Amino acid sequence: MRWFFLALLTIGICLGISDPARGQTELHIAEPQVTYTFGSTLIIETEINSEIPIQKVTVLLQPEGATQNIAGDASLSPPNQVIFTLDLTKNPIPVFSHILFTYQIALENGETITSEVFEFDYADNRFPWQSLATEEFEIYWYDGDTQFGQAILNAAYEGLARISDQISVPDPEKITYYVYASAQELQSTLQISSQISTWIAGHTDPSSGVILVSIPPGPAQSVEIKRQVPHELTHVLLYQKLGEDYDKLPNWLNEGLASTAEVFPNPDYPLLLERAYEQDILIPIADLCRSFPIDAANFQLAYAESASFTWYLLGEFGNPDMEALIAAYADGLECDRGAEVALGNTLAELERDWRRTNFNESLLRSSVMGALPWMIVLAALLLPTLGLYITDTIRHRQEKR
Ligand SMILES: [Zn+2]
Repeated sequence: MRWFFLALLTIGICLGISDPARGQTELHIAEPQVTYTFGSTLIIETEINSEIPIQKVTVLLQPEGATQNIAGDASLSPPNQVIFTLDLTKNPIPVFSHILFTYQIALENGETITSEVFEFDYADNRFPWQSLATEEFEIYWYDGDTQFGQAILNAAYEGLARISDQISVPDPEKITYYVYASAQELQSTLQISSQISTWIAGHTDPSSGVILVSIPPGPAQSVEIKRQVPHELTHVLLYQKLGEDYDKLPNWLNEGLASTAEVFPNPDYPLLLERAYEQDILIPIADLCRSFPIDAANFQLAYAESASFTWYLLGEFGNPDMEALIAAYADGLECDRGAEVALGNTLAELERDWRRTNFNESLLRSSVMGALPWMIVLAALLLPTLGLYITDTIRHRQEKR
């Protein structure tokens, strides 16, 4: 999309601007000044000098990661001032995105000229961000001292080492963390910019390498750092490994790998899994391929199962087979077929083995459970015959008396 937009703009520049040889109007645009308050108002000011009077100026904005462009007319005030104002409550822009924009200038002689491409970064500027940076990572936070920022940076490197133990990943390319001080503040940010947020502490845009996490102060802080920072990093590294094919990974594998990278995994998972097993409400792994349930209880269970199932596969099959599994899915194989091709077992067989190992499920229970649907069918077929046989025997006995 971005390339398409850039290509269009490039064509615009070639055709329209500053080409007196072709008889087109020369004009000059001063470097635009961008100011905004996150989620409120965006103002872009510039000066445009043109030989021919300007009739109208339209601004076209292309936020990275957004599906739609934003277009609006700028106001003109003589002699050459052009002010574009955008109400961000009505036209939300994804937070921490890179924005490209151009001017389309309609002149009184009927000519329309497209300007060169300008750009700016749209950040959540409601907070006084502090920062730390290395070649691989940039860390931004607003609540805490330098030690806190350093702890985030350390956890990113620790996570990188753990992920690299499980699967091969490329060297990180400029991955940026924004650390919010509470889940509420993070979720308000996502709501303001109209990005989805449900039951989450973190939000990652793997394609742009921007990670948002919420880590409140308090006794659990260091544990949360070592859980969330490596988890979100895995999503970005998987994207940097697979590119657009990242979206083809089954949810359980994507979230499972991210969970196995956590230095301190969620302590609630083992109990949650055990209870779900006892109540026979474990979600079939096949149901976790494309999406996760959205209700809070099952959402957590989906994560717990994905983590446990992925741990099981990593232990059972090791790196080369897991690489083959990731590659099979990235090639576009369906959830079940990918497992069969890479690991030689159907997803259902792998799930049965995982349940048996993880919950000490006896072979008998597992085979009885597996055969249960057939037993019901068989019983349904046999019952009428059995009933007839019994009535017949009774009648015979009565007749013999
Ligand atoms: Zn995740």
